[in-house]
Amino acid sequence: MEQVDVVVVGAGFAGLAVARETAVAGLATVVLERKSDPGAAPRTTGIIVDEARRHLPIPERLLRPLDRVRLVAPSQRRHLDLSRPGYHFYATDTPGVLRWLAAETTVAGAELRTSTAFRDAVRRADGIELPELGLRTRLLVGADGVRSRVALRFGLGRCRRALVGVEDELLLPASAAPRSVLCLLDPVLAPGYLGWVVPGVGGVTQVGLARHACRSSNGRARPDLALDRLVGRLARSGRVDLRGARRLGRRAGLIPIDGPRRRASGPGVVLVGDAAGWVSPLTGGGIHTALAWGRRAGATIADALRRRRETPGGARIRPAGPRFVFKRVLRAAFEVLAREPLIEAAFRTPALPALARLVFFHTRGLLSPGAWRALLPRRSGWPATGPTV
Ligand SMILES: Cc1cc2nc3c(=O)[nH]c(=O)nc-3n(C[C@H](O)[C@H](O)[C@H](O)COP(=O)(O)OP(=O)(O)OC[C@H]3O[C@@H](n4cnc5c(N)ncnc54)[C@H](O)[C@@H]3O)c2cc1C
Repeated sequence: MEQVDVVVVGAGFAGLAVARETAVAGLATVVLERKSDPGAAPRTTGIIVDEARRHLPIPERLLRPLDRVRLVAPSQRRHLDLSRPGYHFYATDTPGVLRWLAAETTVAGAELRTSTAFRDAVRRADGIELPELGLRTRLLVGADGVRSRVALRFGLGRCRRALVGVEDELLLPASAAPRSVLCLLDPVLAPGYLGWVVPGVGGVTQVGLARHACRSSNGRARPDLALDRLVGRLARSGRVDLRGARRLGRRAGLIPIDGPRRRASGPGVVLVGDAAGWVSPLTGGGIHTALAWGRRAGATIADALRRRRETPGGARIRPAGPRFVFKRVLRAAFEVLAREPLIEAAFRTPALPALARLVFFHTRGLLSPGAWRALLPRRSGWPATGPTV
C-alpha cells in the first residue's frame, strides 16, 4: 500500500487550490480526478470576480474583461446599465483555466491521477485507506463537488438546497455578439435566480439560466426547456439576435445555495469547495471562494500535518471557510420579493441600481486585511494565501 500525506478527490478549482498549497509545503499530495482531463465538460459559466485574480495569476489569453452589466426586467421593456469605474470581472476560457491550474499544481509537486474515480475509503487509526487504489493517506480532502461522494461515505454534511443551471455555448456572427453581460430577471422561467447572456472568450457567447432545482414536476421546471423559451423571448424582444448561432456545447450542473456545511470535517477527512457549500447563496458564485478558501485550507492542512509529522494521521483538522451571513439574508429577501410586479416596480426606484451595483461590482473584500496580504508577491509568483470574500 502506497503511503501519502494528502489525497484530494476532485481536480476542480477547490481541489487544485488545496493540492497546490500542500504540495508547495512539501507534503506528498495525490489528486484523483474521474475525468480524463480536468478541463473537460466544465459545469460552470466560469465568470470570475476581479478579486479572484489576486489568488490566481491566470494568463491573460484565458480571460475576457467584462465591465458592464445590463439588468433586464421580466417584461424585457426596461433595463438598467450597471458599471463601476476601474472594476472588472472576467469571462474565462474555463477548460483552459482548469488545465493551466492543473499544470501549476503538478509543477508544485502534486501528482494528478486522471480517469481515477474515488469510490470508497476506510478509516483506520493512522489515517484513511483507499483499498481499490492501493493508497493510504493521512488526510482525505473531498473536493468532489456538490454531490460529494466523500461526504456521503464519511457521513458529513450534504447539500439540501440547490439551483440547477444550464447554459449553451454559442458561436454568433461577430456583428450579433453582445458587448455587455445581459442579466434577465424572470421569476417564471428562472425562479430563484436569473437568465444570462455573457460575451465569452474567443468569440463564444454563453447563454444560460439557473432556477430552483425542483419546484414542480411539470415540463416548465425543466431548465433546458426554460432556456429554449428564454432564447425565444430574447429574440422576440430584439435584445440579442441569436439567429444564425451555432451551438458548440452545453454546460449544466447544480449550484448549492444552502450555505456552508456544519459538518465539513471528520477524523482524517475535510470537505472544501462546493462539497463544503462554499458558494454564495445569493449569486451562486463559487469559483473565487473555492480558490481563496481552498488555498487557505491547503495552508492550514499543511501546517497541521507538518506539526504532527511524528504523530499518526487521521487527526481532525477544521479549516476555516466562508460564512455568507449577509448573502444568506439577501437570498431570503430575494426569495420573498422576487415577484414580477415587485421587480417591475423596483426598476422605477433608485434602490434597485444601488443594490444591483453592490451585488455585481462589490468591493467589500478589498477592505479585508486578507485582500492586502493577497497583493504581496511570493517567490513562486503566486500571491500569498488569504480569502477576500
Ligand atoms: C451552470 C453553472 C454556472 C456557474 N457559473 C459560475 C460562475 O460564472 N462563476 C462562479 O464563480 N461560479 C459559478 N458556478 C459555481 C462554480 O462553478 C462552483 O462553485 C465551482 O466550480 C466549485 O468548484 P469545486 O472545485 O468545489 O467543484 P467542481 O467544479 O464541481 O469540481 C469537482 C471535481 O471533482 C471531480 N469529481 C467528482 N466526483 C469525483 C469522484 N468520485 N472521483 C474523482 N473525481 C470526482 C469532478 O469531475 C470535478 O472535476 C456555476 C455553477 C453552475 C452549475
